[in-house]
Amino acid sequence: MHQQTASMTKVHNFSAGPGILPQIAIDNSKSALENFMGTNLSLIEVSHRDKEFESVMAEARTLPLEILGLGDDYDCIYLQGGASLQFCMVPYNFLNTKAAYLKTGVWAANAVKEAKFFGPTEVVGTSEDKNYTYIPKNYSIPSDADYFHYTSNNTIYGTQMQSIPECKVPLFCDMSSDIFSRRIDAKKFDLIYAGAQKNMGPAGATLVILKKELLEKITRKIPSMLDYRNHFSKDSMYNTPPVFAVYCSLQVLKWVKEMGLEKMEVRNRAKQELLYAEIDRNEFFEGTTVAEVRSWMNATFITKDDSHTERFLKLCKEANINGIKGHRSVGGFRASMYNALPIESVQVLVDVMKNFKP
Ligand SMILES: *Cc1c(COP(=O)(O)O)cnc(C)c1O
Repeated sequence: MHQQTASMTKVHNFSAGPGILPQIAIDNSKSALENFMGTNLSLIEVSHRDKEFESVMAEARTLPLEILGLGDDYDCIYLQGGASLQFCMVPYNFLNTKAAYLKTGVWAANAVKEAKFFGPTEVVGTSEDKNYTYIPKNYSIPSDADYFHYTSNNTIYGTQMQSIPECKVPLFCDMSSDIFSRRIDAKKFDLIYAGAQKNMGPAGATLVILKKELLEKITRKIPSMLDYRNHFSKDSMYNTPPVFAVYCSLQVLKWVKEMGLEKMEVRNRAKQELLYAEIDRNEFFEGTTVAEVRSWMNATFITKDDSHTERFLKLCKEANINGIKGHRSVGGFRASMYNALPIESVQVLVDVMKNFKP
């Protein structure tokens, strides 16, 4: 009985990644681990070629396109290796002449680093000079670039692109930490990828969506596992897919679909407004980024007085707030407010801030 009470304590999960998932996705995944679609076998002990799992994969590949309003000129697969492997696969497959990158944070910088292995990589804009606290404007994208790559949400620094850049070359985006968080005009993109573990599932699966005609542009000789054509032509089953991660992601996708991006946006807007209003009002705290590019997903802030940091972290812990400590490159705090985080959790954090006295 004791244990039950302890395990039922509500934790407010602001973890930056892997992050909070909807309870229904965890419950459904748990029961599929026991008995997968009436097979009396576990999800993780049946063939991925069985019709049950094939139906899971088919739906997991359809829903992202439906949610984003993309038609059958797009296709979608799940790969392993995280978003970090996409930093390599993207240029391996598509950098023929040169590529253009916007460098707005640690992940964007890692993407640039990998692209350089494959050819000329032009950084068209960077906010590195001010520790990535803003998003560069007025950069120009060379018209002969094979593609332009950017990161829609900078998970570590807490900035987010508030609009899609105008671009005449194929547009590629790392949406790992804000996919399905609000409405976007997804048709503007030629390639989108996202590691599942921030906003759409457990670690181990990476969603890749691309415009099918892009595959015709691949000219380089590429080892089989890194060649998108193999994965797309085999319907995301070129080799054994991460079955558990795909199943759990599907449960999250169903939840997102049911809510719809419009309602998700309303929820996420309200959450970030509540928190940033308190950061701005409270005399003991301040935000770390330029206000107009503040991330809806990862709010970064500090105490004005360094000596208050540890005490605030302790108060958060007492209020059952998890994952609030900032990334080592920014310090202070980072409150990640992914899709599944209820606004009640943000209110708890805001209350701790309101009651903070040095
Ligand atoms: C977390 C993150 C990554 C790295 O993802 P891995 O799956 O760990 O490789 C890349 N890009 C962004 C925007 C992220 O938030």
